[in-house]
Amino acid sequence: MITKENSILLLATRFADRGDWTVDQQFIPQMGSSYLLAHGIGTPLGKDAFTTFDIPEEGDYTLWVRTKNWTRPWSDGPTPGIFRVLLDGEADGTVFGTGETDAWYWQKGSVRHFGKGAHTAALRDLTGFDGRCDALLLTRDAAAPGNSLEEYRALRRSLLGEETPADKGHFDFVVVGGGIAGICAALSAARLGARVALVHDRYILGGNNSSEVRLGLGGMINLPPYGSLGYMLNEIGPERGGNARGAHYYEDERKMRVVLAEKNITLFPGYSVIGAERNGDRVVSVTAMEVAGQTLIRISGDVFSDCTGDGNLAALAGAESLSGREARSEFGESLAPETRDSLHMGGTIGWYCEVRNTPCSFPDSFDWGLPLGELTVEPVHRSTGAWEVGMHYDPVTDAEKMRDYGMYVAYSTFSYCKNRYSAKEDWECTHLVWVSHVLGRRETRRVRGEYVLRQQDILKKIPHEDGTASLSWNIDLHFPRTDNSRNFPGDEWLSESRTTPVDPYPIPLRCFCAKDIENLMMAGRTISVTHVAFGSTHAPRTSGMVGEVVGMAAWLCIRDGILPRDIPASRMEELRALMRKGTGRTDVQYNQFYTLVDNTAKQIESI
Ligand SMILES: Cc1cc2nc3c(=O)[nH]c(=O)nc-3n(C[C@H](O)[C@H](O)[C@H](O)COP(=O)(O)OP(=O)(O)OC[C@H]3O[C@@H](n4cnc5c(N)ncnc54)[C@H](O)[C@@H]3O)c2cc1C
Repeated sequence: MITKENSILLLATRFADRGDWTVDQQFIPQMGSSYLLAHGIGTPLGKDAFTTFDIPEEGDYTLWVRTKNWTRPWSDGPTPGIFRVLLDGEADGTVFGTGETDAWYWQKGSVRHFGKGAHTAALRDLTGFDGRCDALLLTRDAAAPGNSLEEYRALRRSLLGEETPADKGHFDFVVVGGGIAGICAALSAARLGARVALVHDRYILGGNNSSEVRLGLGGMINLPPYGSLGYMLNEIGPERGGNARGAHYYEDERKMRVVLAEKNITLFPGYSVIGAERNGDRVVSVTAMEVAGQTLIRISGDVFSDCTGDGNLAALAGAESLSGREARSEFGESLAPETRDSLHMGGTIGWYCEVRNTPCSFPDSFDWGLPLGELTVEPVHRSTGAWEVGMHYDPVTDAEKMRDYGMYVAYSTFSYCKNRYSAKEDWECTHLVWVSHVLGRRETRRVRGEYVLRQQDILKKIPHEDGTASLSWNIDLHFPRTDNSRNFPGDEWLSESRTTPVDPYPIPLRCFCAKDIENLMMAGRTISVTHVAFGSTHAPRTSGMVGEVVGMAAWLCIRDGILPRDIPASRMEELRALMRKGTGRTDVQYNQFYTLVDNTAKQIESI
């Protein structure tokens, strides 16, 4: 049996020097850890990850490496995601990242004799094509470690011990997720006087609108009936729109500056919420893991908001959520399919190339990449919102597969254009300069609230007493593009959009109040809407205004000791007064003029 006495476990993200490897925290719920990713865009990383460790007892140790063959779902050719492990400076004979399975698993290395005392380990990337390593296990035991998530969690507990989370105190309002919605929710409540914790699993704020994902803001702000809602978005929103542009387009520092200037906000950057503790029907605290050190903290609060885009907090707290496409009969929507299915809006991996003065080469992906040809390749220099993957995958369990497929398509496309395309001479000086490793996600879980917004609410403009921020983005529903479906059935990577124009429509507050958890609110992609209504509400500027309103509602709850669901009956007039005023600054130069709405009702999102 593998025990503390005969084995040591080295988590890759805890290496003393991570070199050029990237910490990837996106799939903790699915595979149990954050891990190191060799994201070199086809160029091997220059600097190894390196650490020292202690061997407590001399002996023969077998090396096991927790890794994944990430191209395996689509190809049984030789994967490019490979790396070596060096122990005391000497490379193990095995090339890691390969294997017959497409799941995370323990890949066996060699047996090596270690003396008692200090030793070193290093991870050496071989290709720059996203090889990945979660952990190294050195054991004197003959048994193989188990590959299931439960077995892995048990192994971590037994070798690393149970960790008691450090208590970070009590806050009035705990916001989880620092995308556009979460930033606005936190700022709004803080400006009204609440003590706010903003917990975000990246070190950069902005979510889909950060330089890590690079999606422009869409939708309108400053709309009737509450024309002051949205000035806050003008404070944090970049001056320019567009998808997959240079990092500076997204002005990460502007968002960070505004948040850090707010004395009532305590920001927890790089903390992924992995647990939620309940008392009856209320959340009382969340447990978060620092994504690099993998240490735990606990934050307690009175009111919580799920701004994770994916409904992660709601799921951890046990709240019901909606996903896929509802049947027409369920909510009486004409745009819904006859029968319920699991199709959903997919994710996008942004990428772009630049034409420079110098020629360059790129590895040929023929052996492992997407089987592209002259008729199926899209010979373009930049992804758009129509590069959409995973519409048929499960957005929760297949999240990593979705991200990987986005990268797979980007690399395969560029490689085809460089190496095999009939017009490849035109690509001689074209360099692939950016491929995101963070998935731009559209639709994951929609948390069920006190009310579920439907198509007819929006199109028939059904008034609700608790109407708040107005949506404005057309009902923008995405489908796999027909020709792409024919060529890559089930693994489509191009989408088309069918849009239905809307007029600005105030979203009811009840869509932001979780049905099952009394003190949980939602803002952004997680609000309570059908798939069809989501086609409009998910716009980032709408998400920001909803966040602003959620911050106001949270403040009323904190001040008066009431629940979010009490507001429509007892505090609506006060909320209206707050919404008329807004919590954004009006003395900041107005810059939100781009991609207000897709007026053509044809184009898919913003390019
Ligand atoms: C390719 C693409 C193009 C798009 N183009 C347009 C467009 O042109 N027009 C338009 O209107 N809309 C567009 N959208 C939609 C829009 O980007 C999103 O709906 C919007 O950004 C949602 O913001 P959000 O804050 O709800 O979520 P997100 O931006 O997803 O932010 C949520 C954040 O929470 C963090 N988080 C998640 N889980 C945890 C956790 N457990 N602990 C801590 N933090 C966590 C995540 O890292 C993330 O950064 C597009 C989306 C995509 C993917």
